[in-house]
Amino acid sequence: MITGKNYIGSQLKASGDKTFKTFNPQLNTENPWSFVEATSAEIEEAAALANEAFKVYKNCTGKEKAAFLNAIADEILAIGDPLLDLYCAESGLPRGRAEGERGRTIFQLRSFADMLIEGSWLEATLDTAIPDRQPLPKEDLRKMLVPIGPIVVFGSSNFPFAFSTAGGDTASALAAGCPVIVKSHSMHIGTGEMVASAVIKAAQKTNMPEGVFSNLIGSGVVVGGALVSHPLVKGVGFTGSIKGGRALYDLASQRPEPIPVFAEMGSINPVVVLPKALENESKKWATVYAGSITLGTGQFCTNPGLLLGIKGEDLTRFISELSTEIEKIAPSCMLHPSIHADFNQGRELLKSQSGVQTVAEYKGEIAPNFASQTLLTVEGKTFLENPTLSHEVFGPFSIIVQCDDEAQLTSIIDQLAGQLTATVLAEGSEIENYKAVIAALQNRVGRIIFNGVPTGVEVCPSMIHGGPYPASSDSRFTAVGLDAVKRWVRPFSYQNWPNALLPIELQDENPLGILRLVNSKQTYSHIEKCQEKPFFA
Ligand code: NAP
Repeated sequence: MITGKNYIGSQLKASGDKTFKTFNPQLNTENPWSFVEATSAEIEEAAALANEAFKVYKNCTGKEKAAFLNAIADEILAIGDPLLDLYCAESGLPRGRAEGERGRTIFQLRSFADMLIEGSWLEATLDTAIPDRQPLPKEDLRKMLVPIGPIVVFGSSNFPFAFSTAGGDTASALAAGCPVIVKSHSMHIGTGEMVASAVIKAAQKTNMPEGVFSNLIGSGVVVGGALVSHPLVKGVGFTGSIKGGRALYDLASQRPEPIPVFAEMGSINPVVVLPKALENESKKWATVYAGSITLGTGQFCTNPGLLLGIKGEDLTRFISELSTEIEKIAPSCMLHPSIHADFNQGRELLKSQSGVQTVAEYKGEIAPNFASQTLLTVEGKTFLENPTLSHEVFGPFSIIVQCDDEAQLTSIIDQLAGQLTATVLAEGSEIENYKAVIAALQNRVGRIIFNGVPTGVEVCPSMIHGGPYPASSDSRFTAVGLDAVKRWVRPFSYQNWPNALLPIELQDENPLGILRLVNSKQTYSHIEKCQEKPFFA
């Protein structure tokens, strides 16, 4: 059942008078439920509870936190069909996608749980004392990662499960030992409330402190802004537009105590199509790319919005084949009328630029909120001279740039803003002749793909979902994969601390049997009474 209320810890509250409704873009009508914006007092209460919860939660063992994360996964699954139905009603996304994304969300939660039990993520590092070192004795120093405090999570519009209420940001922050306050995304508040109810049940079943999780409803500027400015909040996770992410980043850095904002924002994910790749396989790549550009109605942060090739017969044929394939695909529904309006405005803006040619556009009748997939092309020189042409058009859209030569291709890449991904389509050893292109790409992106598509982000330890600004606000971190936990921790050192008072992860006996770096050697074992020879001696 949807209550339309805020979860302030485990309490459902709605003392405000501003209400919101969500929208069913498939039916082109408002959903029936009404949601109440959190008041200043409720925001204050959620922050105070999170701060109190932090004092207890940060000391929970990995096993206890893992039980909490696994219980969240169980409770989400236990909701069953009503959750999937609501997801579809608030996003316009199909049932198969809802099931797949729920599976990914469960997998993320369980992966962080496994990571907590395994234990090496804490980077426990021990340098034991050398009392007789000359000219001065060496102190005993032991370091590990500790959580930074309550985190505010702004879920995305385009992943109502996997990048939202109990998505990657929440799962990684809870794994780190940080309480979470979610600012529910206004396009899927009902889905957010149902998932929040699962998190609250899981917290109660696993004896987590009250306030370890809250879920607030309201506008980004009012509720989100108040949360980011709140002195008890110590970090922010965000997925969305450059405008929104940048506003929150600026707000956080202007606080008396600035806090980190990990914002994942815009990306057009350049794809470099090398000449020989097209000689024999242009048809194959045309089919594959028509699918990637239109997948999920183009509403993926890794959508290939920019294809770069070198002028010639092969590129001309590829453009024609890609146009044919794109026009064959039936249009699909966007997440919300406002995203649809932004898509149309963006593509009209780019279509109207001087020197731009529209090569494919769905020509049949289109239902309300459905997107007309669009492919444009332009000369390299025109692209270089007009920065508007590299703006993200969020949706099934791509622009093919026809470069004069490798030098122009490299200049275009050098001029691009930071990106999440780059892709290179090449045949055999062709790529070896384009070292400058590859080096330029590496400088601009967080992940590079060979002969594939950028859409589809594997959740695994070696994934990097981030990149130079504005792809993300801090390119040193990833929003997907186990390393996402590193955003919510800081290194902390104990000097000459009594063994019994150290966290068990740093105690001599290594009671958890975790992998640690002891005197510069990786080991699962306890500290020997007879000290090992130090690395630097
Ligand atoms: P958004 O407008 O940036 O909103 C994301 C969240 O941030 C929402 O909860 C929103 O609150 C809040 N917010 C936005 N501006 C804010 C501000 N100035 N101060 C405080 N909070 C603010 O993004 P969206 O709604 O998800 O999608 C809109 C656009 O974002 C798309 O058209 C697309 O360009 C981009 N997008 C990019 C990605 C990506 O991964 N690259 C993913 C999704 C969307 P409200 O609830 O009030 O809106």
